Amino acid sequence: MPPRHPSRTTGILVASCLMVTVLGALGAQGSVSGAVASTSAPGPGTSGGAASVGPTAARPTSLLSPLPDAVGSPSTITIPATNLAASSSASASPDAPAASETTTPAVVDPVAPAAPAAPAAPAAPAPPAPAPAQAGDAQAWASAPYSITSGPNTTKRVVLSYDDCPKSLASFKATLLSAEQQGIALVLFPIGTCVKAGQFDVDFARAHGHYVFNHSAFHRKFGTLSPSQLDEELGPKGVQTAWGRSPYGQLSPEIRAAYARAGMRIWLWSVDTLDWSHNPAQAVVVQRAVAGAGPSGTILMHMQHNAFNPDAIAQIKAGLAAKGLEVCRNQGPTEAGSRAINC
Ligand SMILES: [Zn+2]
Repeated sequence: MPPRHPSRTTGILVASCLMVTVLGALGAQGSVSGAVASTSAPGPGTSGGAASVGPTAARPTSLLSPLPDAVGSPSTITIPATNLAASSSASASPDAPAASETTTPAVVDPVAPAAPAAPAAPAAPAPPAPAPAQAGDAQAWASAPYSITSGPNTTKRVVLSYDDCPKSLASFKATLLSAEQQGIALVLFPIGTCVKAGQFDVDFARAHGHYVFNHSAFHRKFGTLSPSQLDEELGPKGVQTAWGRSPYGQLSPEIRAAYARAGMRIWLWSVDTLDWSHNPAQAVVVQRAVAGAGPSGTILMHMQHNAFNPDAIAQIKAGLAAKGLEVCRNQGPTEAGSRAINC
């Protein structure tokens, strides 16, 4: 068993007439910072606090020690009014990620379909604008229910995801090549400044069968930002894709609206290995990843910490196999902007 946090409290608040937001507040360890707690709280399989995490104000200029997603597991679970039938099971099992993963998307993320920049296209034959069919398709995609902890993974396979920034481009390439050789597709969420600094090669990752999605431009705490600042974080200074993961897993109606404006859906995780907290040894991170994962799970790790290397990935794969779980398979080159993944 992973050193998980045994207790926590939950509260329910009705965020709007359309959605019910379930917030869990950290109990054990009581180390969540106020800033984080204000906009997010742990969800399934959560743990840990953010006490060890420093301020993010300096983040845009410092790549050497990218801040982790400190909050733990997915923060806010939101259930659309149209899916209230599932809300009881969803809200009743915030501590049991396996339950929400094995059932139909109990944890769903309704993004209001109103935001996308495609106004109702008149059924005119000639205009040079994007085809109405495409606009409608985008809107349908953006509003379709899904699991925020599984994102586009519709299989039972487990996704190994890594955020932030690798220690070096060399270690990055070696790890990605090894994962490819092991038949694994990694899901990577680099910070824009990391890509700009040359420590993460987006094209290399995709060419070798891995998925690269948005993890903001500067990794500021989204809960503290204005709408225009949020737009900057999700803009072209970061990786432009169909899926994004907010720093620290922070969520709020304002943050969700910013993702909708950017045409991105949010993908968090079901297992937080806490590799960001006190820099645990590789064996510890591997054990937490394996112990915490269930079918369709998404494991959160970080490229700058101790489980982003060929050996750790091999051990996680073997550990999951011993539990009867497979990892997301490497199926060859991936494409920018793809809404689907092929596990
Ligand atoms: Zn991060």
